[in-house]
Amino acid sequence: MTSDSRDASAPNDRRTLRDTVQDLVRQWDGPLTRDLLRAPGRFGLGQVPSRLEPTATTTLVCGFCSTGCGLTAHLQQGVATNLSPDPRYPVNLGMACPKGWEALSPLDAEDRALDPLLRGANGALQPVTWDVALDRFCTEFKSIQQRHGPESVAFLSTGQIATEEMIYLGALAKIGMGMIHGDGNTRQCMATAVSAYKESFGFDAPPYSYADFEASDVIVLVGSNLCIAHPIQWERICKNPNAPEIIVVDPRRTETAEAATDHYAIEPRSDLSFFYGVAHILIENGWVDRSFVDAHTEGFEAFADHVRAFKPEAVEAATGIPANRLHALARSIHEGKAVSFWWTMGVNQGHEAVRVAQSLIDLALLTGNIGRPGTGANSITGQCNAMGSRLFSNTTNLFAGRDFENPGHRREVADILGVPAGRIPDQNSLAYDEIIEGIHAGRIRGLWVVATNPGHSWIEQAAFREAIAKLDFLVVQDLYTTTETAELADLVLPAAGWGEKEGTFINSERRFGLLQKVRRAPGRALADFHIFQLVAEAWGCRDWFAGWDTPEDVFQVLKELSRGRPCDVSGISDYAAIDAAGGLQWPLPEGEPVTRSERRLFADGRFYRENARALFCFAPVSPLPEAPNADYPFALLTGRGSSSQWHTETRTAKSAVLQKLHRRGPYVEIHATDAQRLGIAPEDRVQVETRRGSLEAHAVIGSGVQPGQLFLPMHDSNTNQLTLACFDPISHQPSYKHCAARIERL
Ligand code: SF4
Repeated sequence: MTSDSRDASAPNDRRTLRDTVQDLVRQWDGPLTRDLLRAPGRFGLGQVPSRLEPTATTTLVCGFCSTGCGLTAHLQQGVATNLSPDPRYPVNLGMACPKGWEALSPLDAEDRALDPLLRGANGALQPVTWDVALDRFCTEFKSIQQRHGPESVAFLSTGQIATEEMIYLGALAKIGMGMIHGDGNTRQCMATAVSAYKESFGFDAPPYSYADFEASDVIVLVGSNLCIAHPIQWERICKNPNAPEIIVVDPRRTETAEAATDHYAIEPRSDLSFFYGVAHILIENGWVDRSFVDAHTEGFEAFADHVRAFKPEAVEAATGIPANRLHALARSIHEGKAVSFWWTMGVNQGHEAVRVAQSLIDLALLTGNIGRPGTGANSITGQCNAMGSRLFSNTTNLFAGRDFENPGHRREVADILGVPAGRIPDQNSLAYDEIIEGIHAGRIRGLWVVATNPGHSWIEQAAFREAIAKLDFLVVQDLYTTTETAELADLVLPAAGWGEKEGTFINSERRFGLLQKVRRAPGRALADFHIFQLVAEAWGCRDWFAGWDTPEDVFQVLKELSRGRPCDVSGISDYAAIDAAGGLQWPLPEGEPVTRSERRLFADGRFYRENARALFCFAPVSPLPEAPNADYPFALLTGRGSSSQWHTETRTAKSAVLQKLHRRGPYVEIHATDAQRLGIAPEDRVQVETRRGSLEAHAVIGSGVQPGQLFLPMHDSNTNQLTLACFDPISHQPSYKHCAARIERL
């Protein structure tokens, strides 16, 4: 459906739209109140492009992955009708993947949420006014809190909304509404990197710039199918003039492994042994940058002692990689002038994921590959604003990487926000998995889900749905009425999407980029920012957020929250400065020159720990949570299917173009030798089963997976019927990548 056809189907609204637009442009700088919403003919409040010429172009950052590409929106009458990659934007240099080109299509989908929906006595969701929706939301949540205490309501947020919206939600929930618990879906993708960096570096600080892709001579990609997961970052590697050695460590022969110089197809989840084995060889050969280690790190001797047991022959038995190849990898790292280590979900989503991530950090530290061009221990983020969520969502960290349990930190934040310190919780939030456990146990009875779809994406769905069914009240705030989670809701709040609102995203290389309004949200959908304002008003706590009238107002608050912290951006004056520079990386403290050049951290060898030294972190290797056996002889792996699909496909499935670019329908990859042994032919219907459930799929036979492995794309809604609810003990990130399974031909 186009915005024109929507207007045609609502002639009364269409007649009043122009007047409304004029009003809105005038009122944009004023506070949004429920009174404005009550006025007849008003809808899509604040969703109209207000700063753009009728026919023009403007650049906004993409709202899918963390690469943060700049997309040029081509406008007619102030409304975006097309997109193209911005050749001047320093991230993507004129390139975009299919999702970026098609980013407008999902906004026109038929299943957009146009009105608040409330589940009625007949069990169906029915349209209601915003007034009714807000009253019901607040009445239900307050009632739950009165009966069961402030901890009995919680929220689950996202890495997909603007940073300013995250700040508003985090402040509203914890300062305004008295909640203790809230987490983001970034727990599912980046929590491991956060925990690893905090312990090793003293702060959640991905050290790199994308320029490092082009400056390395040895690039080690671990559990990262960059070619399809982050295609533009792969393009940056392709621009590297050094003909770099590209080494992929991954159980599967992925598209990236196919394109690499060398592929180490390790046994699934044997990565910790593998990298300790590499460290063992480096240390045994004296291939250690002693001057860097002595000057800038702590704990090297204990680490060297720990990896002494990981002799190449023992590592060969654990990983399936011959000892001579392990030696070859260590030699490549030693001989490289600028070696960079990159990882993503293959590392983060494991049962001992933090220690694996830290084993890569350890390798970078012991070889002195950090702080110089082309180096680094580099976690590639997942969602477009996962980095915003990590630093500014006020979920399990207090704003700007602070600690709720630290009285000094609470005072700092209270002073900046102008609220009594006592309103800030003095305990950390439960993590996502603990919130679900809390629902199971009856401690949490009200849940607000914002811009995420755990009814598809959360691990081990049967247990998740059992928990959700126990809630007294579930509120889902989303663009669409048809997500698996919205269909479970008691109340759906219709949200504007990417391109229909303003704010900033922070990408993988710590770059703030601008999100702009280039479309009008349909129906009575509102920007998440405005929904939070209205909830604050309806709850009766709007006064705590006086002056938070626009996203840019909250950006100014963000600057103050960041001041003096490692992520200090007090030197960014406003949105116009971000726009003019093509995005700006943190840190950028006040007084530092605003420059377009790409920057990396730790060039001075000083880390964020108290003694300014990075810490070698390590632990014993732990056994697989669910090893294959005679009944379930396969290791089931999950991951991204293609570059044209995004997570639970709530958006990418809406684009006819994107749907043509990948295989449709459920499929499972199996190695040719296993298929032959089990009598499975290409495209046969098969059943894949784990101890949690089963699904039917078509067989795709090849050599992408090794014998004894199966691969399912995560985009199919049934995949998480099979996965095992196992979590890294430090980061609480779900271990999606491995469980035991069996397969049979139907
Ligand atoms: Fe968007 Fe990521 Fe594709 Fe760039 S690579 S266009 S940020 S989805």
